[in-house]
Amino acid sequence: MPKLTIAQNILAANDTYAAGIRQALAPRHIFSINFMSSPGAGKTALLERTIERLGGQLQIGVIEGDVETSADAERIEAAGASETVQINTRGNCHLEAHMVQAALDQLDLDRVELLIIENIGNLICPNAWDLGEDLRVVITSTTEGDDKPSKYPQMFADAQVVVINKIDLLPYVDYDLEKARRQVLALNPQVRFFEVSCRTGAGLVEWCDWLADFARREVTSGSKELQR
Ligand code: MG
Ligand code: ZN
Repeated sequence: MPKLTIAQNILAANDTYAAGIRQALAPRHIFSINFMSSPGAGKTALLERTIERLGGQLQIGVIEGDVETSADAERIEAAGASETVQINTRGNCHLEAHMVQAALDQLDLDRVELLIIENIGNLICPNAWDLGEDLRVVITSTTEGDDKPSKYPQMFADAQVVVINKIDLLPYVDYDLEKARRQVLALNPQVRFFEVSCRTGAGLVEWCDWLADFARREVTSGSKELQR
């Protein structure tokens, strides 16, 4: 019982920070997204391709979460993000709302219309931590196996959008796209899918068009999570 109480207190404190983030972003009409995936699925690559395509029409700010290094923030800055901040968690396996709040203090929010938070590569616990985001996107890739949704169900159940990356490799890997989609839909019937290749550019027009419309609140995902 004491352990459970402690965990609840930590999550309750996190929710207080998350509410503060929402209060800071909402009046500025800044829409925020939490990008989650296993390591190597292509979060940073998808961010780079997205910023290259949308950077001219939408001011995108990025909070980069990594255990160590600022390598990903440097890639994002080079791709043309309006504002970028790197968070190093020094061993922590997920981002927490207080870390995002501290990063927000370093961003010039006047230069941000869409905020993307790249979480730590991990399919187990990041979804337990509300970061004050409006939308959760899970990226999965054809090289990591088509059983990820059933092995890590909560991650996929909590997402509004699932992006399947590296579809250019489908001829070379044993990945059954329909099987993966069926697993996700069984957990999360409302989810929206995108199938992309950050290497060839396949599917990126559809993803970027949708994201731009969503950032301008011209479409909704139909999810309860987004109406809060
Ligand atoms: Mg990354
Ligand atoms: Zn964790």
